[in-house]
Amino acid sequence: METDLIGTSIIGFSRGGKTAETFTAFDPASGNTVEPVFHSATNDELEIAAKLADEARLSYAAAAPVKRAAFLRSIADNIESLGDTLIKRASLETALPNARFEGERARTCFQLRMFADVLEEGSWVEARIDHAIPDRQPLPKPDVRSMLRPIGPVAVFCASNFPLAYSVAGGDTASALAAGCPVIVIGHTAHPGTAELVGIAVSKAVRDHQMPEGTFSLLFSAGYEMGQALVRHSAIKAVGFTGSRKGGRALMDFAAARPEPIPIYTEMSSVNPTFLLPNAIKERGNDIAKGLHASVTTGAGQFCTKPGLVFLPNDADSFVANFNSQIEQTTPPPLLTGGIRAAYVAGNLKRAGEVDNTAANEEAQLPGFAVNPSAFETTAIEYLNMPDLNEEIFGPTTLLIRSGEKEELLRIARALEGQLTASVHGTEEDLAEYADLIAILETKAGRLIFNGFSTGVEVCPSMVHGGPYPATSDGRSTAVGSRAITRFARLVCYQNFPQSALPNELKDENPQNIRRMVDGQVCQNRER
Ligand code: NAP
Repeated sequence: METDLIGTSIIGFSRGGKTAETFTAFDPASGNTVEPVFHSATNDELEIAAKLADEARLSYAAAAPVKRAAFLRSIADNIESLGDTLIKRASLETALPNARFEGERARTCFQLRMFADVLEEGSWVEARIDHAIPDRQPLPKPDVRSMLRPIGPVAVFCASNFPLAYSVAGGDTASALAAGCPVIVIGHTAHPGTAELVGIAVSKAVRDHQMPEGTFSLLFSAGYEMGQALVRHSAIKAVGFTGSRKGGRALMDFAAARPEPIPIYTEMSSVNPTFLLPNAIKERGNDIAKGLHASVTTGAGQFCTKPGLVFLPNDADSFVANFNSQIEQTTPPPLLTGGIRAAYVAGNLKRAGEVDNTAANEEAQLPGFAVNPSAFETTAIEYLNMPDLNEEIFGPTTLLIRSGEKEELLRIARALEGQLTASVHGTEEDLAEYADLIAILETKAGRLIFNGFSTGVEVCPSMVHGGPYPATSDGRSTAVGSRAITRFARLVCYQNFPQSALPNELKDENPQNIRRMVDGQVCQNRER
């Protein structure tokens, strides 16, 4: 496989031109630019990618699930065969260690293979069959069958903070390709070299598995216009995005304003409220302080699941001192981009004017995009009076909020915005005593965590990585786990179709032996 970067888009089986509009990646550790120069796609190239995706729509959707599964496995194999070239490039473009990318690559390939398993098992299509009853009185009942079918070409925006697992062949792309949808990816400007390498790996799999040319394209762009034009393009039928609330909201509005509005799944901002109940601090204060510090600072705090609001009892002085001293001893890490660094510095400055800045590493001259980790502190009353404190500051910082009464915690919980996660540390008795807090948090977050931290998202069938707005644009969905596939599918019903014209999944003989609901009964055998 070719691993020399040429810095142009991948449009079906062709490479884009070396256009005049260019940009480069940066090494966040030094702030220096990194070779090569990348060229923005032109509008004509976008049109070609969209036309190819539109042309591929039906033939790719018609590819048998086992063929699509083999294709997904081959993408994973190709990514692995990029070896150290991929790990080193991702590390160079992010200043995150190689080990991080060994883990992220494993997760990325696991996701692709998990969706291959989902396709081979086949029941994800939620097939339902209601047989006809021709002699039903007063009217005959028709034969009605339904299942999930691919929604059509999907636009995927890469995430800055997951160059592998949420970028070119990440969770959104894997779930869209699994669902039977061609994908056009907008590469993130922070890690274009990583994107090109993974794009080459996907492209090779498309050819090797004789998938239609438009199954996959990767567009580079120095500005926002290309992504906006893609979301507005009539060939695109759904969007996946991970990033800022500002960017996600802008794209949501574009998707809704189209002549034909389309579903958009944006994963935006979350401050992941973490409640430390009195018994937890008494019993495990030191362990919790250590775990919280790791959760706030790992990956330079650049996780959508970082705990950004921590509620703790009024008398937790030694816990706070312990946590703050760990923050003060943390080496200032480089953030992913100059823009993320500027947002972090501005967010810290604003917060320092609002509440107490209780811990910060005092190193003065920091290289590249490095920043000082920090911690802030306030009271529940101040927090409730200052809605701005709910804003996400992306990076290694958190806000500790002291509160007294249970009733105060319930008021806080009711005031929270939609979140990806909410965590509660306590005993089982606490859970019973604070049952009304849990009931409120269930309305606010996609994932509730007991005695654990919100960072670290397990990829498994039951995972929910979603939550009410503004955590995501659609709180009914998940971006992680096998259920993510349903975001890129829509229900289609077939009434009175002959067996020969039905999709395999809906034929009486059940040739794929999938789980189905037949005449109201869930069953998994070929007899029904
Ligand atoms: P971002 O600025 O939202 O960018 C994400 C992607 O969307 C990039 O490809 C970007 O293009 C594009 N984009 C952004 N705004 C757009 C717009 N109005 N129209 C069209 N395209 C647009 O996010 P980021 O660069 O990853 O990080 C910036 C901030 O986002 C962080 O400081 C943090 O607050 C937040 N963030 C949150 C999460 C999360 O999961 N909660 C994850 C990452 C970042 P360019 O490549 O040209 O910039």
